[in-house]
Amino acid sequence: MSLSAPPTGGPSSCLELLQRMIGFDTVNRSAEGEPFAEAALAAYLESVAAGWGLQTTRLALDGGFNLLVTHPADPAGPWLMFDSHLDTVDVGGMTIDPFGGQVTEGQIWGRGACDTKGSGAAMLWALREAAASGDLSVNLAVLYTIDEEVGRRGVRAFVDHQLSTLDWRPRGVVVGEPTSLRMVTAHNGTVRWSIRTRGIAAHSSDPRQGRSAISSMARVIAAMEQRYIPSVDARHPLVGKAECSINLVRGGSLINVIPESCEIWLDRRIVPGEDGAEVPAAVEAVLDQLRQEDPELEVAQQPPHIEPALAPETNGEFAGRVGRVLESLGLSAEAVGAKYGTHASNFATAGLPAVVLGPGHIAEAHSAAEHLAVEDLERGVELYRQLMLQPATAWW
Ligand SMILES: [Zn+2]
Repeated sequence: MSLSAPPTGGPSSCLELLQRMIGFDTVNRSAEGEPFAEAALAAYLESVAAGWGLQTTRLALDGGFNLLVTHPADPAGPWLMFDSHLDTVDVGGMTIDPFGGQVTEGQIWGRGACDTKGSGAAMLWALREAAASGDLSVNLAVLYTIDEEVGRRGVRAFVDHQLSTLDWRPRGVVVGEPTSLRMVTAHNGTVRWSIRTRGIAAHSSDPRQGRSAISSMARVIAAMEQRYIPSVDARHPLVGKAECSINLVRGGSLINVIPESCEIWLDRRIVPGEDGAEVPAAVEAVLDQLRQEDPELEVAQQPPHIEPALAPETNGEFAGRVGRVLESLGLSAEAVGAKYGTHASNFATAGLPAVVLGPGHIAEAHSAAEHLAVEDLERGVELYRQLMLQPATAWW
C-alpha cells in the first residue's frame, strides 16, 4: 500500500487521528489496580501505523506494552526518537464530554487533547509524511509509553530493559508534552514519600492508657513546617526554587479509640542539580531532634519514590541542534525551564539527551475543559516533520 493512501477506515487527517485517540478511555488506573488502560489505544495506533507501511513493535512489560513505531531509512544513519505517553489523568469534574473529541471554535475538546494525545497524533502524522517523502537519511522512531501520569512504569521499562534489546540507540529524544512549542531543557523532579507515627491504642474513656499517634504526628508536622521546609532553598535559574509540602494525612481507626497509627505524605520538588536520594537524610535529622526531645516518640519515614530533575547539561548539544531547526521555522530557539516533570529526565538519566517540545498550553493540561487549538496541532505536525526531515549531519 502506498504511504500516501490511508487504508479504508484509517484517519484521513491528523485532526481525525486525534479525535479517534481521544475516543479511547486511557485514564491512568494504576492507583485502582487496572494495569493497562492504554491497551485499546495502543492496538489502534499499531493498526494505523502498520496500514501506512510503518514498522511496529510491542515492547512488553507487566502484562502490557509500550508501542514502538519505526521507519528505518539508512542502516548507517543515526536514530532520532519521539516519545508520547498514552495515558491521561482522570475525568472527574470535567465540564465537556471527555471522550467526545468534538471540534468547535477552532479547538478540539476532550481529555488528553492537550496532555498529550495532541503530540502523539502529531508525531505519527509527521512520521507518515516524512516516510512518504522517501528522502530520509535519519532513522525515525515514535515510542508510545504507558503509565506516565502516576508511576512511569512505561518509560522506566524502556530505559531499564527494552532499550538494550534494540540494535540501535537514539541520538536524542523529543518528548511530546504541551510546551507551546517552546523547547524545555530543564525541569523539576519529585520525591514523594510518607512518614508514619505509631501510638498505643486504648479506649477513649481512659486516654492515659494509650498514646495518640495523631498527637505525635502533630509535632512531626510542626517540625517539618518550622524546621525542614524553610531549609528547602535550592534554586535553578531555569526552574526557580525547590519546594516541599504536606498534602495528605490519614490517622486513627474509630471515634472511641486512641489512635495507634497516623501517616502523612509529602511532595518535594527538586531542582536540577539536587539529588533526590539525599532528601530522606535531611528529614531524618529533623526527626532525630524530635526523638531526643521525646524518647517515646515512634516515627519512621517510608522509602521514597524519586523522579529525577532534568538538567540542561544532559542535553546541551542535542538541544542546540533542535534549536537550530526551531529557528529555521521562525520559532524561538531559547531553552526554557518547567516546574512539572516529564519522561525527559528518565531518558537523560539513561544517557539519552532529551528535550520536551509539543503543541498546546500546559495550563490546559488536566483541566475541566481540556482542549487544543487545531492550528497548534498543525504547527506541531510541521515542527516534528521538519525535525524528522533533517539530514543525518544535523544530528552528528
Ligand atoms: Zn503529559
